[in-house]
Amino acid sequence: MSEAIDYRLQPAQGEIVITGVSKWFGKHKALDGVSLQLPPGSVTVILGPSGSGKSTLLRAINHLERVDEGFIQIDGDYIGYQRRGDRLYELKEKAILRQRINVGYVFQNFNLFPHMTVLDNLIEAPIAHKKCSRAQAVELAWQLLETVGLRHKADAWPRHLSGGQQQRIAIARALALSPRVMLFDEPTSALDPELVGEVLDVIKKLARSGTTLVIVTHEIGFAREVADNVVFMVDGKIVEQGSAAQVLHNPQHHRTRRFLDKVL
Ligand code: ADP
Ligand code: MG
Repeated sequence: MSEAIDYRLQPAQGEIVITGVSKWFGKHKALDGVSLQLPPGSVTVILGPSGSGKSTLLRAINHLERVDEGFIQIDGDYIGYQRRGDRLYELKEKAILRQRINVGYVFQNFNLFPHMTVLDNLIEAPIAHKKCSRAQAVELAWQLLETVGLRHKADAWPRHLSGGQQQRIAIARALALSPRVMLFDEPTSALDPELVGEVLDVIKKLARSGTTLVIVTHEIGFAREVADNVVFMVDGKIVEQGSAAQVLHNPQHHRTRRFLDKVL
């Protein structure tokens, strides 16, 4: 099923450890003491009503938001900080960008570079980050196009692709840096219903690739099929977490039950 992603043969990595993370926007506490441990190579689906802090949490993992309390670590490295002895020092912008290479981010609205062809979208980051030569980047791009089933679109412009195709290219582009962690923020919620499946199929393919996946989505069927962990958030807090079977079939918290009643 996943022969096209054999370019990553390294053992599973990308352990995420979130410890007591809080984040305020003015007087509003968007994250309230969130702690979470996600094993290397695991697939986690985050559920919760609008405004519960799901995007803020994803953005914090990638240091697109600086948290006010607590810490986030990936494979032991503190996000946004460097450890020297027993003290932590804030990283400078350049070092943060270097750290971010390990984390792929897929947005709701695709965010491809509109003035570049599909192939150029895929080779830009590996070349810019000096991960490989142009020839190697092109070869990798073809492998990634195979993974997402879009080799025939290599020379197309993003605006000529359907939303589902654009999102599959956005996923391929994020994978081009061989991230240890991939974050998806409602990757199918901007798509017409008939295009949702093709994007979820690509994410399913990645689910066993060794990359740690964290996916915010309301696609409960998908969560049931691929998630090792399901996390349910309300008002910046994790109110429930566990296996898909536990959280989706036997929810303990009344907010989880109410939410599932609405989306199922
Ligand atoms: P979700 O993704 O679960 O819908 P968000 O993480 O986007 O929730 O937002 C959580 C809360 O933080 C919301 O109340 C939202 O209005 C607020 N918020 C998010 N980003 C900002 C921001 N940049 N400035 C002010 N408030 C924000
Ligand atoms: Mg959101």
